[in-house]
Amino acid sequence: MNFEDNKEFARKLDEQDPLRAFRDQFNFPPSRDGNSPVYLCGNSLGLQPKLAKKYVLDELANWANYAVDGHFHSERPWIEYHRHATRGFADLTGSKPSEVIAMNTLTVNLHFLMASFYRPTNARHKILIEEKAFPSDRYAAQSQIRMHGFDPEEGIVEWKSSNEDGWLALSDLADILEREGDSIALLLLPGVQYYTGQVLEMAEICRLGRDAGCVVGLDLAHAIGNVELHLNDWAPDFAAWCTYKYLNAGPGAIGGAFIHESHCSPENLNQLHGWWGHDDKTRFKMLPTFTPAAGAELWQISNPPILSLAPVIASLELFLEAGLPRLIEKSRSLTNYLRWLINRRFPEHIGILTPADARGAQLSLVVQDANIDGKTLFDRLRKLNVTGDWREPDVIRVAPAPMYNSFSDVFEFVERLELALK
Ligand SMILES: *Cc1c(COP(=O)(O)O)cnc(C)c1O
Repeated sequence: MNFEDNKEFARKLDEQDPLRAFRDQFNFPPSRDGNSPVYLCGNSLGLQPKLAKKYVLDELANWANYAVDGHFHSERPWIEYHRHATRGFADLTGSKPSEVIAMNTLTVNLHFLMASFYRPTNARHKILIEEKAFPSDRYAAQSQIRMHGFDPEEGIVEWKSSNEDGWLALSDLADILEREGDSIALLLLPGVQYYTGQVLEMAEICRLGRDAGCVVGLDLAHAIGNVELHLNDWAPDFAAWCTYKYLNAGPGAIGGAFIHESHCSPENLNQLHGWWGHDDKTRFKMLPTFTPAAGAELWQISNPPILSLAPVIASLELFLEAGLPRLIEKSRSLTNYLRWLINRRFPEHIGILTPADARGAQLSLVVQDANIDGKTLFDRLRKLNVTGDWREPDVIRVAPAPMYNSFSDVFEFVERLELALK
């Protein structure tokens, strides 16, 4: 597309945007000092869908009106409330409905899934993560290694970047697996790397891991609702995600998990169990013997926090309505426009860390001019009511979310970036 560097052009793209009506379904933070909000932080905390408030209030009303009968007799009985997330999760991750479950939060799910899938032996006990892994994932992996009686220092293998921009190359992963794959029990890797915004070749990672005899787990925190996923096909052993980033379900909202169908059989009882993993037909007979639920529900342990699940259900409805292919198409246009504007206006000052051909909605910006301090620039943007986020040591992450951001937001961001640079 031939882009133009002016406000009118951005407005024209907005008028042609088939998803433009979704913007009105979200609450934006207020204007400050005459500056409208430029919110490009959907990769960290998505904006609030108006429907989320309705769904939370519905459940508060159901609790007030039905009390304990809400489990079975309200409009959306709590006993199976989590199932309202199934279709949305399956659709966004390319999974079968029986492979996904809304439960817990992300790091908690990584631990529960590692309880099932990280079964180290003396010969094969290491966990491979990427060099700049999100700290929570690293801590989770280290502690799992320690809990199994191994040394976390020695037990973590890092997939390092051999490239100055910090991108991860599949050939480097293949080399590690070739060299020491026999000692690696688990690959725990992201779909989209949070710092660089690089989309990893998940299908290939799964294949390489499988060929080396390793279990593969994917952290989809930055991938779900952002890029195309085909989990059933790619066949990682498990995956987990949060729902407050691109999925807009609010702070600490209930996350999700995927367990490949090959592991979902009643013969596989390697999970930590609770009553919500019990077959629901006989759950309330309160028997001392455990009858496993079918599919990913077997990994569910407790009855879920309905109030933290309600916004997830609301948000997934919006995703189903908008459709992931349309969102991704718009996302590409938004980031192409952003990239074009940045390269055109600030070729000397601002670099883009995120690979052009392997990215979702996020661009990771770095200041290239030694006379400008990145953190100071970020603080100036904040004053101008621009919300992105700062990641140590030197990255400003911005992510136009196709569900509610506009081409005018992108244009306005670049205008304010120019102001902040002056
Ligand atoms: C956002 C994010 C988390 C957050 O973990 P919680 O358990 O939801 O607090 C973990 N890992 C990655 C890679 C993330 O991007």
